[in-house]
Amino acid sequence: MAEKPKPAFLFCVCTGKCPGFEKMDIWDFINRVRLELPVAYGIIHPQLCEEDGDRYLESTLEKGSKVFIAGCAPAMQYKLFRDSFEKRELDIMSDLIPLDVRDMTTDDAFDKVANALKEHGYNVL
Ligand code: SF4
Repeated sequence: MAEKPKPAFLFCVCTGKCPGFEKMDIWDFINRVRLELPVAYGIIHPQLCEEDGDRYLESTLEKGSKVFIAGCAPAMQYKLFRDSFEKRELDIMSDLIPLDVRDMTTDDAFDKVANALKEHGYNVL
C-alpha cells in the first residue's frame, strides 16, 4: 500500500512575543519536527490570524492535504482559519489538525506533535 502523503506543519508563534512560548526553544522545536517527524515541511509563521497570514494560507494550502498547525487553542484555530480553508476547498474539521503547544517545553511540544501524527496514521519512527 502506498504511504500516505506527508502533511504540512505550520507553527504560529503569536508575533514571537507571546509568553506562551517562553518555555520552549522555537527553533529547536521546528527543526526537530521537520527533520525527525513525517511532515512534508515545517515552517514558523509570526501571526497566521492576521491578513497576511490569511494570504499565506490561501497561497500555500493544497486541496487534499492535511495541515497540522501548532499554536493556540484548537477552538480558536477553527474560527480563525475557517475562511482560508474554505477558499482552498479544504474541510477545516477534517483537514486541519490544530495543536495547542502554549506553555510547553520543547520536548513536550515535540511529543505532542509526534503523538498527533501517530493518532492520524502517520508512520512515526
Ligand atoms: S493564530 Fe493563534 S497563535 Fe497564531 S497569532 Fe493568532 S492567536 Fe496567536
